[in-house]
Amino acid sequence: MAEIRVDSLKKSFGDFTAVKDSNFTVENGEFFVMLGPSGCGKTTTLRMIAGLEMPSSGKILLDGDDVTFNRASHRDIAFVFQLFALYPHMNVRRNIGFPLICQGIGRTEIRRRVEETARLLRIDHILDKPVSGLAGGDRQRVALGRAIVRRPKAFLMDEPLGTLDTEFRDLMVRELRELHNNIGATTVYVTHDQIEAMAMADKIAVMNHGVIEQFGPPQEIYDRPATMYVADFIGSPPMNFLAFRASLPKGGSNIDIGNASIEIPELREEVEESDLMLGVRPEHIRLDDTSAFRGKVIGTEYLGTTQIVTISTDHGQLKARFAADIPVREGETVGLSFAGERLSVFDRGSGRALH
Ligand code: ATP
Repeated sequence: MAEIRVDSLKKSFGDFTAVKDSNFTVENGEFFVMLGPSGCGKTTTLRMIAGLEMPSSGKILLDGDDVTFNRASHRDIAFVFQLFALYPHMNVRRNIGFPLICQGIGRTEIRRRVEETARLLRIDHILDKPVSGLAGGDRQRVALGRAIVRRPKAFLMDEPLGTLDTEFRDLMVRELRELHNNIGATTVYVTHDQIEAMAMADKIAVMNHGVIEQFGPPQEIYDRPATMYVADFIGSPPMNFLAFRASLPKGGSNIDIGNASIEIPELREEVEESDLMLGVRPEHIRLDDTSAFRGKVIGTEYLGTTQIVTISTDHGQLKARFAADIPVREGETVGLSFAGERLSVFDRGSGRALH
């Protein structure tokens, strides 16, 4: 197992900078997810950690050793690619054992390690089957088996579930996390799927245009987004934003929006007359007849146990998540209140949270 440290890492391709000054540490045994839209620099970061791409500047440390300029084959890190190319003419046993054969390990030891790996992945009953006839989930497990059989210091995974349909994907998310709990190897996992990231990660780095906007445990990222970008990227439906203009004192605990006074978390610093955004998650909006903050219901979407209700207000449109049995009618005007400590306040210009 290994600790991976990335220090002021930068990568340019000609004039274009794909990764701008990245800094993070993946602790020993941690499942770390890099999350962001296509093109934000996730794969480039991963390839630099693997040694497949040389940084323009900065360092990569593996267990404290500077490996920035070490060749990929000297890093003892396994890279699991999106497309699992199994050797079609070999059976499961040989597919899993192949990396050990290449290392020149003895037959008895290979047999022991392949069988141990197959048990871990619950594919020990298909060891002697050809891979060509396997279903998608089993193929993924064989590919994973081939990656973990070497017991590398760390795993790097680039959208390994990208090609699976939703049902398989959910299953593999659970399996990967369970596998991680069992073998506890440091893992860096790249995805653009926030649900996958939230379900698997010990820590998430949310990336945007080559920059890590926030780094932390999933719950912290969900509850206390550092930027509007993060707030908008995580959550389904994402966080709502209400636009308003105000001056707020440091530590201020209330804002006036229209006729309503809304409680907010304590601000870090004083804000002079600025364009601000109030961020509220759909599940933190309540119907409240006594509230002066009002809006008109313009749509409802039933989801079984909950419903997503779209409400138009003078400060922007909101999507609220209510229990399905709460009666709301399209066209009616409703009063709304918010769970004060759960709100976010952002500076609209910089997009940064003010608390
Ligand atoms: P995706 O999920 O689409 O792979 P990503 O977040 O992993 O997205 P990267 O693959 O790291 O993004 O790419 C980041 C940016 O760097 C992209 O704009 C990409 O076009 C560019 N890029 C990546 N590799 C090269 C290269 N070898 N030469 C030039 N530009 C590159």
